[in-house]
Amino acid sequence: TAPAFSVGSAAAAAIAPSGIRAVADLAWRTPGTLQLQLGEPSHPTPPHVVDALAQAARDGNTRYGPTPGVPAFREAAAAKVVRVNGLAVSPDEVTVCAGGVEGLGATYRALLDVGDEVLVPDPGWPNLGTLAVVCGAVPVGYPLLSGDRPGPDLDALERLVTPRTRVLVVNTPSNPTGGGFDAGTLADVLGWAARHGLWVVADECYDEMWLDDPQPCAALVGQHLRETGRPAPEVVSVFSLSKTHAMTGFRLGYVCTPPALTPVVRRVQETTLSCVSTPTQWAGVAALTGPQDHVEEMRASYRSRRDLCVERLADQDVLTLATRPSGAFYLWLAYATGEPSTDLARRLVVDHQVALAPGRAFGPAGEGHLRVSLASADDVLVEGLARVVAALGGTS
Ligand code: PLP
Repeated sequence: TAPAFSVGSAAAAAIAPSGIRAVADLAWRTPGTLQLQLGEPSHPTPPHVVDALAQAARDGNTRYGPTPGVPAFREAAAAKVVRVNGLAVSPDEVTVCAGGVEGLGATYRALLDVGDEVLVPDPGWPNLGTLAVVCGAVPVGYPLLSGDRPGPDLDALERLVTPRTRVLVVNTPSNPTGGGFDAGTLADVLGWAARHGLWVVADECYDEMWLDDPQPCAALVGQHLRETGRPAPEVVSVFSLSKTHAMTGFRLGYVCTPPALTPVVRRVQETTLSCVSTPTQWAGVAALTGPQDHVEEMRASYRSRRDLCVERLADQDVLTLATRPSGAFYLWLAYATGEPSTDLARRLVVDHQVALAPGRAFGPAGEGHLRVSLASADDVLVEGLARVVAALGGTS
């Protein structure tokens, strides 16, 4: 149940508590619970990254840094975007942020006025909406097509856009569905946004977590549209080191902005953040420029766990894979008993000692679903899925 605030602003009171956190808290308090709800890699932070953090502190890099970021970090981030994402970006267009969530928050603050509307995916990562709420803006959920070719439902977007709509947010590969948009889908969505004069904010938190064929990022598709004379929107890309480099606790990411917006984002950062932890940025330089084996190791383990789970799911009839999982590290499962997903997720922990994120935590369209995280060991996944199937009255 939502806490009742007796003090505080209306915007703060409007932030819905995280439905994922509620299950996680219960799971931690319930001994023997299999954890299939985790939103972070199980892989350890690479040792060369940890060493770089310690070395930076020992070298005296412990003071305030420039708001846009330590130059070496911005250079390393720009070089990564050129190398991995294929985008022509200079360090002048890169601003460091304290994790993707803070970069998204700064971008929203740079773009949104009170009462503006933001189109966010439903189902989608909850903060994409709540970050708008703290700006006094209004998140409007748009449906995602599921199945084999996931993507925003353009007919629905057309019905949802209003004169107050300012931003369309895309997140691919998606948390929670694991679905990824292909280049054609992104081109259609970006073209639609351009025709409506919207900014596109691309949440690139999982940009390197494609399990099959990597697809181009939104900004690259936008660049291609522009080069071929078609309408293209302005795209802000928010990247994170959390998932790609197993650095969730470091709180590090970077925002790539069209040149006109860069000083605006930096002005917001100056007042809300001053700067990102300096040693952390040096750890980021090591992550972005050093050996990358850990990235492929993580992808390989998610890929094999996905394949293992898909195989297991074929042997039962109470859970359906709602979206083809091609990226991030999640499976999006539909069930048909009609039980509210938050009740089911609670019951799964209390009676069956298995924790999954309830679909409703990701928006109204998430109802009737559960999210499985592939950041759990193979045996935990197999046993956990068997417990869910049994709890839903199926056999496996
Ligand atoms: N975007 C999505 C879709 C996520 O799932 C997450 C984390 O779970 C984030 C952004 C933010 O991650 P961080 O702030 O650690 O970079």
